[in-house]
Amino acid sequence: MTELAIVGAGMGGLSLALALQQAGHACTLVEREAALTEVGAGIQLGPHVMRRLTAWGLRDRLHERIALPEALQARDALRGHLLATLPLAGDCVNRYGAPYATAHRADLQAILLEAVQQGGSTELRLNTTLTRWVEQRNGVNLEFDSGATASPGPARVEEHAHSQAQVQASALVGADGLWSRVRASGWTLPEPSATGHLAYRAMLPQSLLPERLRSQVVTVWMGPHLHLVTYPVRQGEWLNVVVLLQPQRSPHAVTPGWDLSREPQDMAADVQAALRGCCAGVRDLLGMIEQWRVWPLYGRDILAGPDQMARGRVALLGDAAHPMLPYLAQGAGMAIEDAECLAQWWTQTDLTVSQRLHRYAVARWQRNARVQLQSRRNADIFHATGFMRWGRDLGMKILGRRLMDQPWLFSG
Ligand SMILES: Cc1cc2nc3c(=O)[nH]c(=O)nc-3n(C[C@H](O)[C@H](O)[C@H](O)COP(=O)(O)OP(=O)(O)OC[C@H]3O[C@@H](n4cnc5c(N)ncnc54)[C@H](O)[C@@H]3O)c2cc1C
Repeated sequence: MTELAIVGAGMGGLSLALALQQAGHACTLVEREAALTEVGAGIQLGPHVMRRLTAWGLRDRLHERIALPEALQARDALRGHLLATLPLAGDCVNRYGAPYATAHRADLQAILLEAVQQGGSTELRLNTTLTRWVEQRNGVNLEFDSGATASPGPARVEEHAHSQAQVQASALVGADGLWSRVRASGWTLPEPSATGHLAYRAMLPQSLLPERLRSQVVTVWMGPHLHLVTYPVRQGEWLNVVVLLQPQRSPHAVTPGWDLSREPQDMAADVQAALRGCCAGVRDLLGMIEQWRVWPLYGRDILAGPDQMARGRVALLGDAAHPMLPYLAQGAGMAIEDAECLAQWWTQTDLTVSQRLHRYAVARWQRNARVQLQSRRNADIFHATGFMRWGRDLGMKILGRRLMDQPWLFSG
């Protein structure tokens, strides 16, 4: 019997495998994709996340790849002027014991995967999709559709004919993302619903940009029903750009599969049309981007209690438990925190399996709920119009640094 089976090798599943490994526990990590790949997009990692990644021994590998932005700036997207600045570089280390970093998602994923594979105690099964699970008195029975398995060690993948497999585990963790099969089969919670918000993502080599468009800071450009986030990745050599549009600004009503049918040139035109009232700096930057990828954003209700994160021998982690709008840039961060916490409780072998998972959920659900809620509130603040926008800008000018710092979040 496998001690612990994790379904989903995204940021959350890989982090949990690594945290367990470092605590001396083996696990089976199951992923439906045949290879682990990440989208060409950036990710922000606050000091609370960097502290954990550093504690897992990843500091040197990370510092070869990440960027350390000098500051976080808030700007008016329409007129371009600066509203407030929060210094990041040295300040974050002094205040929170770790830097504020930005990374390419593929780099972070590769670093986590390499560490998991080097540890050697995780059995990674690729091309294996969880189809069903049933909890029994002494464990959980898992059923998979599998085509290939990969065992520990770099890139050792054994091809199998398409087959079905069963695994018995003493516990199951669903780290299988927004459309979690683990959640759908064990909880009667509503499925995710479309928020109508769209995220367009792109990356540009900074060397191709004119000097005035290059940047080594995180900038949030706020406009009516929209905002933009730009930040450096890959040691500052690339600029990551995300455009977020609320329904009023979205050029299309989004139906399932709509994003797959958009041609790159249509997407570039969509973004430029939605942001045509923005300042020249924003429009010039968008004019340099030919390749966008678009994400319709989905959401679920905010977590209401620990039993929505763990029940009996089954727990949920990351987006499977608490998807959130990316307006606080914390989805992966919370998945990584979940992983650390779950691994800590898993080592409490004087407790039963159910007790360990329950304690994890009790420790995590309120913080996750708070982050979900703040992410929603940020949508209203970032996209404000009229009097609210005026009040926001005034508040930012007077109290900007205090408003942008998040001690409750960064202190962890
Ligand atoms: C525009 C945008 C910007 C963002 N920016 C940030 C940011 O700056 N910082 C941040 O922290 N977060 C950010 N996020 C959020 C972050 O990307 C997610 O919260 C995070 O990736 C979730 O990780 P996860 O491991 O929980 O789920 P996922 O990454 O979705 O991983 C789930 C894995 O499970 C696998 N899987 C699914 N079903 C099965 C099955 N039945 N069997 C086997 N495997 C299965 C999937 O293939 C996948 O590999 C952003 C999100 C968006 C959309």
